[in-house]
Amino acid sequence: MTQISAPPSPMPGNKPVKFFARREKIYPRKVSGHYRRLKWLAMIVTLAIYYLAPLIRWDRGSQAPDQAILIDLPARRAYWFFIEIWPQEVYYLTAILVFAAIALFFVTSLLGRVWCGYFCPQTVWTDLYIAVEHWVQGDRVARQRLDKMPLCLEKIWKKGLTHFLWLLIAFCTGGAFVFYFNDAPTLWQQLLSFEVSHTVSGFIAALTFSTYIMAGYAREQVCTYMCPYARFQAAMFDKDTLIIGYDPVRGEPRGKHKAGTSWEGHGHCIDCTACVQVCPTGIDIRKGLQMECIACGLCVDACNDIMDKINLPRGLIRYDTEQRIESKDSAKNQSPRIWRPRTFYYLTILCLVAGLVIYGQLNRKPFELHALHSRNPLMVKLADGQIRNGYEIKILNKTHEDGSFSLRVENLQDAHIEIRGAGHLSPENLEVLADHVGSFHAFVSAPAQKDTPSDIRFILKDNQTGIEETYDSMFISRETK
Ligand code: SF4
Ligand code: SF4
Repeated sequence: MTQISAPPSPMPGNKPVKFFARREKIYPRKVSGHYRRLKWLAMIVTLAIYYLAPLIRWDRGSQAPDQAILIDLPARRAYWFFIEIWPQEVYYLTAILVFAAIALFFVTSLLGRVWCGYFCPQTVWTDLYIAVEHWVQGDRVARQRLDKMPLCLEKIWKKGLTHFLWLLIAFCTGGAFVFYFNDAPTLWQQLLSFEVSHTVSGFIAALTFSTYIMAGYAREQVCTYMCPYARFQAAMFDKDTLIIGYDPVRGEPRGKHKAGTSWEGHGHCIDCTACVQVCPTGIDIRKGLQMECIACGLCVDACNDIMDKINLPRGLIRYDTEQRIESKDSAKNQSPRIWRPRTFYYLTILCLVAGLVIYGQLNRKPFELHALHSRNPLMVKLADGQIRNGYEIKILNKTHEDGSFSLRVENLQDAHIEIRGAGHLSPENLEVLADHVGSFHAFVSAPAQKDTPSDIRFILKDNQTGIEETYDSMFISRETK
């Protein structure tokens, strides 16, 4: 990792130390090879998922939306294929986030920064923007030449077309994002007829702007200065982590080499800087592992291409462990230790979290009961001497069918439940619409109890399936000081 040394103290007569350096624009050169193909593949797959996922339909019956992935904010529901999350189940979301974080640690410990190099949205969109730039303006030298050129027709149309395509991609990105929060076909119709709400257009505009800025201008600065993951992942690295590294043992001393002459006393690096020119973060990997390196592998492709041309074995820059790259002895030929204790720790935690989520989903009750004891008044003494307590009953019908439930109370002898509300309501037939929360006001009357408050249990039974759900509450027989 980059060593940050303390700035030299300003001495009298010395120039003042500058703490700000202007960003130097990076012009990554075109490269082809194994890692470049992998990056194209990752880009196509991730972009296809992002843009097309909201169009996938999933049948949940007539009472629920049929979009496979949907965050329905007005109805306060989140849908992911067969999983449906209510606001009361937000802990699933926490578990899913924990799972994603541990999965990232696991993959990093196993394969290094593959997330950063291939799947991170910042990398994917930046790569796409660079590809557009490349297509319109040409390769590295042509782009540098264009930037230095005074304003002319060629510059205007090339820059204009690049920015138009960037904005178009950014607009599609913002547009696709709002599809995750609305029914995609309906919203699509509204977009075509310019009938979208201000909120939707605001989100599309914000996402369009941020994509354009992040992928078009900020680029590698997001990874270097903004992303916290780049900072703390050093803690996950050890000598056995797979990295993209330059082999100094083989490469040094570097320098130009005349074709046909001996390699004796000469390292295999011919200092052509092809590895630097293709790097999207503009670093020189020959200086060692650096925080800015996103492990995209493009420098490997560039260097392998050079090695092929000068008839030397590939792999001067390669995807390997730091241990093997830096080793001068037999350790170089030892197999990399991919499975290490930390890999197993992460895998164990990952399995535990995944197990908890799956267990939670498999045992998810189709309905929930909440019975909140009324505070005002806590209890009422009736004319016949019985005590009456009030409760706010909430029944969450999570199914997509209308439900009928019966409510009873346990641990309270001779208890009688009365449901108050519009119309005739009976505790044996509490009706709740599909995918709705039913609210009822219940009065429980019983003889005064010796202990107060005394523990009681409400039991709710689904009249169709017989499944029961309980809720523990209390019964207060007298006011206490
Ligand atoms: S591409 Fe290979 S040979 Fe050329 S400078 Fe980089 S490491 Fe040296
Ligand atoms: S040094 Fe190589 S692997 Fe690292 S970001 Fe640059 S091109 Fe990608």
